[in-house]
Amino acid sequence: MDSTQVLVVGAGPTGLALACGLLLHGVPVRVVDRAPGPATTSRANFLHARGSEVLDRLGALGALPEESLRATQVTTYLGDRPIMKLKFGDPGHQTAAPPMVVSQAKVEAALRDRLAQLGGVPEWKTALVDVDQDADGITVSLSDGQVVRAGWVIGCDGTGSTTRKLAGIGFPGVKLSERFLLADLRLDWDLDRTGTSGWIHPSGMLGAMPMPAPASGRDDLWRLIAYDPGRGNGDKPSEQEILDRFRQILPERSGKQVHICEAEWLSLFTIHRRLADRYRHGRIFLAGDAAHAHAPFGGQGMLTGVGDAENLAWKLALVVQGKADAALLNSYEAERRPLATDVLRGTANVTKVNIASSPIGRFLRDRMIVRLFNLPSIQRWATYTTSQLWVSYRKGPLGGRGAKPRPGDRVPDLAVVCADGSASRLHAELGGRWALLMARAAGDDLQTAVRQRLGDHVGMLRHDDEQTMLVRPDAHLAWRGSDVASLDRWLKTALQRGQVSQ
Ligand SMILES: Cc1cc2nc3c(=O)[nH]c(=O)nc-3n(C[C@H](O)[C@H](O)[C@H](O)COP(=O)(O)OP(=O)(O)OC[C@H]3O[C@@H](n4cnc5c(N)ncnc54)[C@H](O)[C@@H]3O)c2cc1C
Repeated sequence: MDSTQVLVVGAGPTGLALACGLLLHGVPVRVVDRAPGPATTSRANFLHARGSEVLDRLGALGALPEESLRATQVTTYLGDRPIMKLKFGDPGHQTAAPPMVVSQAKVEAALRDRLAQLGGVPEWKTALVDVDQDADGITVSLSDGQVVRAGWVIGCDGTGSTTRKLAGIGFPGVKLSERFLLADLRLDWDLDRTGTSGWIHPSGMLGAMPMPAPASGRDDLWRLIAYDPGRGNGDKPSEQEILDRFRQILPERSGKQVHICEAEWLSLFTIHRRLADRYRHGRIFLAGDAAHAHAPFGGQGMLTGVGDAENLAWKLALVVQGKADAALLNSYEAERRPLATDVLRGTANVTKVNIASSPIGRFLRDRMIVRLFNLPSIQRWATYTTSQLWVSYRKGPLGGRGAKPRPGDRVPDLAVVCADGSASRLHAELGGRWALLMARAAGDDLQTAVRQRLGDHVGMLRHDDEQTMLVRPDAHLAWRGSDVASLDRWLKTALQRGQVSQ
């Protein structure tokens, strides 16, 4: 029987990010996916700053910043009148990674390239069909007849997750909307490509986002989303019917003359809000859409999935390598599930606003909410919230109190000096390793303490500050101070109990 330390189920953005993270930490991994090959169409079209940061730390950003658009502004129209302009511009929180209009297919391709560099390759046409878990590992049956012994199985297999079902983890939630039509169309129309446009219309909202298509040499590709509940009986229109509906909807709701030149992809979706009861069952974990199902508004799904992956990768690596007790893994759910709860609440609220049809709901949206969102302070809040740069685990088991950034907070992408004297950025030194960011007067004893507990996966850096910081591979603060005994105590408690009390 073949064996592997970690089996990742699903080669979507979450599974690929997790596999890259594990390999960066030196943990062998297999990735299986039931699809015949990589997806060519793209659900997600936007990656907020935090997602770009994760790719950057994994070394998977590649040429995405150059190939993507910076169309980060959203203009909402009532008829032909712009009533709200929301700018998701530079989040201004010391990040070197830009928010990007980029297709999910491109993000996945960049992650696959990075995975290949690290020596991994997704195994296509290979579905997980069964698991049998005991105290030492999991015996996994795959659709091609293979039986594999794995130390850990991570279900990154999307909303319909087989892993979740086999682990007996519930996925309660509600349906939030009837169908939305979705199309990637090449259009001839007079519409600004520096941002997304949305139209509020009595028969439902319409959204149009410019899509990059550098290979074609044309800039006429658009992602269109239109609320079109149909008869609300779950009927599924054919591709031709979806195209015909867009021919009607586009001029009707945008008030513009539109010529559809070509259709690249036609689909539909309904919106559910669901959250897994637990993220762990013994040696089985869930990450990404397998753990939380989102409305696409606000671009939070893929973003949250790659964040889950980054959080789990370094913890699992420490456990697999015998540097931490399995108790550390409990901090994964404790840190990530509350975040998913917040994100789900936010995306559900945006969905309700978008599909509001009662007179009161429409009045609130068209007269009150749009006014609020025109305020610069609300715009800053919206940018910061959707970017996920706010994410903090300070209330979690590894968090703490004190001056900011507090243990658990994200540490900005600070200027640092490497051991060889060269200048760098903090986030560029993370990903596959921790960083000990030493204060001006810090002695070598701090380095020794960290090496003893964490081994070689630590970058020794200096910064111009009074206090030393130990930064986790996912850029959150672990510990800050100057006392070696305090540092050692933090490491010992975190690694042995997965819980620190400060
Ligand atoms: C219309 C739309 C627009 C969106 N826009 C955005 C956006 O702009 N920004 C954003 O961040 N998010 C967006 N999202 C959400 C985003 O697409 C998802 O959150 C993201 O795909 C989740 O990634 P994942 O890897 O967790 O799951 P998936 O992408 O669903 O990948 C799961 C993988 O698991 C495989 N699999 C399934 N079952 C098995 C099995 N039994 N064995 C082996 N493999 C299996 C599948 O083949 C698949 O490759 C959007 C979603 C929709 C529907």
